Amino acid sequence: MILAGLTLEELENLMSELGATKFRAKQIHNWIYSKSVSSIDEMTNLSKDFREQLKSIASVTDTQIKIKQVSKDGTIKYLIEYPDGECVETVLMRFDNRANLTACVSSQVGCAVNCSFCATGKGGFRRNLTYKEIIEQVLTIQRDTGLKVTNIVFMGQGEPLLNLENVLKALELFNNDFQIGARRITISTSGIIPGINRLADSDLQSTLAISLHAPTHDLRKQIMPIENKYPLNDLKNALLNYINKTGRRITIEYILIHGFNDMPQAAKELVYFLKDLKCNINLIPYNSVIENDYKKPSVNDTMKFKYLLEHSGKKVTVRLERGADIDAACGQLRGRA
Ligand code: SF4
Repeated sequence: MILAGLTLEELENLMSELGATKFRAKQIHNWIYSKSVSSIDEMTNLSKDFREQLKSIASVTDTQIKIKQVSKDGTIKYLIEYPDGECVETVLMRFDNRANLTACVSSQVGCAVNCSFCATGKGGFRRNLTYKEIIEQVLTIQRDTGLKVTNIVFMGQGEPLLNLENVLKALELFNNDFQIGARRITISTSGIIPGINRLADSDLQSTLAISLHAPTHDLRKQIMPIENKYPLNDLKNALLNYINKTGRRITIEYILIHGFNDMPQAAKELVYFLKDLKCNINLIPYNSVIENDYKKPSVNDTMKFKYLLEHSGKKVTVRLERGADIDAACGQLRGRA
């Protein structure tokens, strides 16, 4: 049995089966989620006999770090291997001027959405991650660094809203067991409308981010095949419904690709598309992935685009590039060595 991923209640049930007190469950819970140990032997406030008893039926984790790369800017990328040999990438980002430690987690092995600018989509879909495999990514970071993750973004490999049950269960654990507030968690989607509708009906306090990347149907379908299934007009209605029901501001993610969607005309079309949506906009200058010809925008074009959007009264940020030298930046994850 694997202890990581068990809630306090599940640990209490386990302790009762072993004839131990509820207090033991609290201690073990603390070792797993706050102190992030990787073995039962490290749980030094349990008696040696009890540790041996526990070890005969359980271990803390069955997940390993296959590769770890550290960027010049402090970003760390892990290739994590699950017992069936499947791997995903998880990234820890630190921003110098903030105390936050943000984990960018994967929700699936591979991805079926196949956005043309994304390294993950190239390898196709392999399988969903279980909620335990999702939370293991954060535990792996904590065990390796000895630091506590403060923020989580579901922006790694996979489309979270196509694995919603496991993502929602992982969110519950992040809230209750890791003590990471829902407002510090962002779920990013390519625009899976049934999933957005489901989130609209839940009382989740997390931020919803939409990978929009183009302001019109014709442009978007060139880079995101999902546009054929869930076109922008329908997506907009789903977003209006989400904002209306939850009262929450959404985030619009927009990858700027030189000569494709970074021109002033595209900025104006984007302003038009977003005009009734309560949202912030995050511009992401494209990071080169070897398999395609897309180019990074110039700083000048990026700033011009930002200015045009700001002029419409929206809050616009340009995402700081993290970990580009180790292919850990947005769209560069591929889940292989
Ligand atoms: S950008 Fe996201 S949704 Fe699109 S292929 Fe990559 S992982 Fe999948």
